[in-house]
Amino acid sequence: MADQKLILVTGGAGFIGSHLCTRLVADGHRVISLDNYFTGSRENHVPGVDYREGHTKNIEKHIPETPDLIYHLGEYSRVEISLKEPALVWDLNKDGTFGVLEFWRKYGGKLVYAGSSTKFGDGGLGRNQSPYAWTKASNTELVKNYSAWYGLPHAITYFYNVYGPRERPANEYGTVIETFRRQFLKGEPLTVNAPGTQKRNFTHVDDIIEGLVLVGAGGIGDDFGIGDERAYSILEVAQMFGGEIIMKPATAGNRMGSDIDTAKTRALGWSSKRNLADYIKQVCKK
Ligand code: UDP
Repeated sequence: MADQKLILVTGGAGFIGSHLCTRLVADGHRVISLDNYFTGSRENHVPGVDYREGHTKNIEKHIPETPDLIYHLGEYSRVEISLKEPALVWDLNKDGTFGVLEFWRKYGGKLVYAGSSTKFGDGGLGRNQSPYAWTKASNTELVKNYSAWYGLPHAITYFYNVYGPRERPANEYGTVIETFRRQFLKGEPLTVNAPGTQKRNFTHVDDIIEGLVLVGAGGIGDDFGIGDERAYSILEVAQMFGGEIIMKPATAGNRMGSDIDTAKTRALGWSSKRNLADYIKQVCKK
């Protein structure tokens, strides 16, 4: 294939990374995954991908190759629990990402960074609401600076509450759609953290992958929001599932809502094609 690329996906054994690997292999690329298996899983491995296990801060040891494109998705990725383990977040997101940026500086290629939409939460206050949000927001600045200092091509994406197959199970690192799905199927009440009116732009993982591929091919610079513009409150989502709801206390680090701007991704031909209501109907069939 003429435009076959060597693509490195950090976090390739994770929820979003594994879907990205599937797509990149199907498109004919040579794909290497670097994952530390902290939340990634061997069950997410897909045929055709070359898997390496290790910390991103040791990336040079694990990746002797020179990728044409790096998708840097492999970071600590949960908001509320990050308040309880800042040292781990620092290790994975600051030391780890510094390793990736140094690798990029030495070997070149294009870097696509998976930023976090938490930085747009609550009118911009979201960026400081948790160690997770802050490390992700400050990393977007470092990526831009590396790009400018060393003349390297980059693009920064911002995902909005991703759901879909392989979403992490309902534990402390899980996310709300899969948590509600499991509660619903077990006949348990759905646990809504107060106030329940906090809103999120839930986005199907297939739409995220479509956006990532377009940005990888043609995106330049910051501000590639990838998210469904429809926002639902957590209470509305619980009601879409149906069944009993119990309210839980408010959690620290939580944001009430977020701005969303997908203009730059749309300009590449992207639009969100799936919706949460259909997914919930489909996964709630017992
Ligand atoms: N949430 C909830 N019940 C749960 C799990 C999460 O009400 O059992 C809330 C959580 O407090 C947040 C929203 O759902 O307001 C989305 O949480 P999630 O962890 O999925 O993603 P976040 O937006 O925090 O990245």
